[in-house]
Amino acid sequence: MRFPTVPRFLAVVVLLSFSVASTSVFAQNQSTAKPKPHVIVIGVNGMELDVIRPLILEGKMPNLASVIKKGAYGKLRTVSAPNCPRVYSTLFTSTHPEEHGVSGFIVGGITANTNMLKEEPIWSILSKNQITVGMANVPATFPVMPVNGYMISGMLTRGKNCEDGVLCAPKLSEVQGGEPVYPPAMKAELIKNVGDFFIDCERMPSAEQLKNHEPEVIDAWLKKVDVIRAQQTKLFDYLLTEHPTEFTWLAQSCEDRTGHWLYPIAPYNAGYNPKINAVRTDAFPNQYVAFDAVLGSILKHIDDKTYLFIVSDHGIKPLREFEQTDPHAHMDHEKTTPVIAKHDFADGDDVPGSFFAMGPGIKQGLRLLGFEASVYDFAPTVLHIYGIEPTKQMHGHVLNEIFESSDGKVAQK
Ligand SMILES: [Zn+2]
Repeated sequence: MRFPTVPRFLAVVVLLSFSVASTSVFAQNQSTAKPKPHVIVIGVNGMELDVIRPLILEGKMPNLASVIKKGAYGKLRTVSAPNCPRVYSTLFTSTHPEEHGVSGFIVGGITANTNMLKEEPIWSILSKNQITVGMANVPATFPVMPVNGYMISGMLTRGKNCEDGVLCAPKLSEVQGGEPVYPPAMKAELIKNVGDFFIDCERMPSAEQLKNHEPEVIDAWLKKVDVIRAQQTKLFDYLLTEHPTEFTWLAQSCEDRTGHWLYPIAPYNAGYNPKINAVRTDAFPNQYVAFDAVLGSILKHIDDKTYLFIVSDHGIKPLREFEQTDPHAHMDHEKTTPVIAKHDFADGDDVPGSFFAMGPGIKQGLRLLGFEASVYDFAPTVLHIYGIEPTKQMHGHVLNEIFESSDGKVAQK
């Protein structure tokens, strides 16, 4: 198998980034240019509407409830056998996994990385169009690539205690095998002002670690997840305050990680083990309550001129694939963790992602029914807000149905 070492779109971005690095990377006061739209995207790995809807009914997710009220939301059709790098790279490029090349966590025996990306990602297109870009903790962005702004890598970052980079959390200072921060000088600044944070989310415990110590191991793991989320919240707040960009993409991944082994399943579900599954039945819903607080801290940076997208790559459901000989078989996550919920079902429509949008010219209180929106539509819709045509490679369409005016024109253009 062959991997391109330097994707063909990279050279252009490198040239561009050199020309902007000293002037506009962090400077927002370009008085000569017309103000460009501000878009903030929050990626949530494995957001499951089956769990979120009851929480909203109970008033436990007030911030997401307000976004739903003020905007449009619905399911997001995902790809087959969805997993994070596979879907995120589709969100980046609006192309099929076979085309963009990042088909899973491991591709041809190697942990997926940005050098494998064969189609131009949205951060490159935006950078070329002089849009300032900021990205943090977004899966499958390691090693980081030059952008017209900053990029801090997310899931699949490799480092100490996380040598293969698959579903574990290296510290920023302990990253190995590639750059986690662009521009590189920003790394010291982050460590000074935010602290030496964990990238991605904690590795799930193995069956051996759990055995006969279930409650302690579960609680210790959840505590670590709380620490990681608090660090990410601080990072996001710092970036939005100190380095605002026209396009910003932040992501969270602990929700999915928790769901895989602590989804509150019932005794009739496959894999039910009361020693684990009856211990902290609120652990998974609590992840979304915690996410709602993170959302609240991000909403403080959003005015009525800012577009907000909350996008999930897929949902997560209890094991249900009886066609498989081993229902616990899970290709992409920790090998021995007693996984009781997953998302890499052959039919991606079993585990749709979700999509929430609000901002100037976006309909209020709109619910998209069925599969009107797909992961392919994300990049074209964001580009549309900036008045940029989708590239020829893209399979998705602009989600005109979420915009108020019938021709789908964005007010801010
Ligand atoms: Zn997962």
